[in-house]
Amino acid sequence: VSSVELTQTYLDRINTLGSDLNAFITVCPDIALEQAKAADEAIAAGNTTPLTGIPLAHKDLFCTQGIKTSCGSRMLDNFIAPYESTVTANFKAAGAVNLGKLNMDEFAMGGANENSYYGPVKNPWNHDMIPGGSSGGSAAAVAARLAAGTTGTDTGGSIRQPASMCGITGIKPTYGRVSRWGMVAFASSLDQAGPMARTAEDAAMMLNVMAGFDPKDSTCMDRAVPDYTATLNEPLKGLRIGLPKEYFAEGLDNKVEQVVRDAIKEYEKLGATVKEISLPRTHHSVAAYYVIAPAEASANLSRFDGARFGHRCEDPKDLEDMYKRSRAEGFGREVKNRILVGAYALSAGYYDAYYAKAQKLRRMIRDDFMSAFNEVDVIMGPTAPTPAFPIGDKTDDPVAMYLGDIFTISVNLAGLPAMSVPAGMVDGLPVGLQIIAPHFEEARLLNAGHQYQ
Ligand code: GLN
Repeated sequence: VSSVELTQTYLDRINTLGSDLNAFITVCPDIALEQAKAADEAIAAGNTTPLTGIPLAHKDLFCTQGIKTSCGSRMLDNFIAPYESTVTANFKAAGAVNLGKLNMDEFAMGGANENSYYGPVKNPWNHDMIPGGSSGGSAAAVAARLAAGTTGTDTGGSIRQPASMCGITGIKPTYGRVSRWGMVAFASSLDQAGPMARTAEDAAMMLNVMAGFDPKDSTCMDRAVPDYTATLNEPLKGLRIGLPKEYFAEGLDNKVEQVVRDAIKEYEKLGATVKEISLPRTHHSVAAYYVIAPAEASANLSRFDGARFGHRCEDPKDLEDMYKRSRAEGFGREVKNRILVGAYALSAGYYDAYYAKAQKLRRMIRDDFMSAFNEVDVIMGPTAPTPAFPIGDKTDDPVAMYLGDIFTISVNLAGLPAMSVPAGMVDGLPVGLQIIAPHFEEARLLNAGHQYQ
């Protein structure tokens, strides 16, 4: 098929199946078909990459020039990005097609995609259920075949957890592997973009395009990018897998545990060895993250003041009134909670008690992983403690929602790469297996994920 035919097929699916799922905030049929036409011409001229003409879609926090970039917020409902993020520019340069922008939790804060100004996203497996978050639109779009692949971002699990709950593959690269330039910032020391796709092979092809040095992001590493597709078929014989005892403890749904343990048995059949390890500071990770992430968010979101970006209130009395009302109207409840918590944790007198302590815990959590990786090649466990839950179930209980991040957020605090691969089903809902590797070992993750699939 031609890229135009393929793109039209996806656009038709987005129109029919997609509207009920609410996975897209913006669909760009004209731009997509124009890019598809150009891709077909490039193919005819023999000028192709593996992604030429492939219809993708992007989380709505990647700035896309000339296309609304809302970040799931009323604050940016009127924001047409004047420039292109490095990630989306790389896909453009590779000849991929952009179908549009995907729904997400406001400013990527959330784990259920219920915090979007544009309404919740539904889980394609069961429309009463959440898709996970914050990259819920990205996961639902891949699961419902509304795009061949999507981008997401993962600050505390937002690629892996929705991938798990929608039955797709998602990888959070090492911090510094992918440029953050042109991504609306949530917590800058944790944010990392990554691919969400049906398979590890698709994710590898996407990561090939996303990864690499970018002088416009000072935390982006100048380090060679391997061809992630080249090692997908390496045998896993002798791979040493560590199972952290803290990841198979209280709070983990029994049926999820069974699916994950069965998946690990498959790895043993492939010649891997399994041993129990310990990540003793795991239980501190939620507390550390929910100080550090809001602290950074409170600083990053101060730029949304009604003057320079986004929403401005009607008829402000004076400057102060404009700031106050613009922010009160523009931000949703969860975002306001985080700004308040963050500003408090950073304020004089409380900084040492909260922020400095959280940073110390962060280092200890990283050290736990570093010593574990002296003994094992990868760490495996559940991505999330439960399958998807009903929309609205935890809306009024943010702490219950935060506790659901227990298996994903220590990876972000440590800057490590990790992925979620579909492992099985529990009561008709998908469940993911999480694989964690040492820094810059994305190829090892993709190899392990591919062999299981
Ligand atoms: N659920 C986490 C939070 O609400 C993670 C979000 C993310 O990774 N963007 O902060």
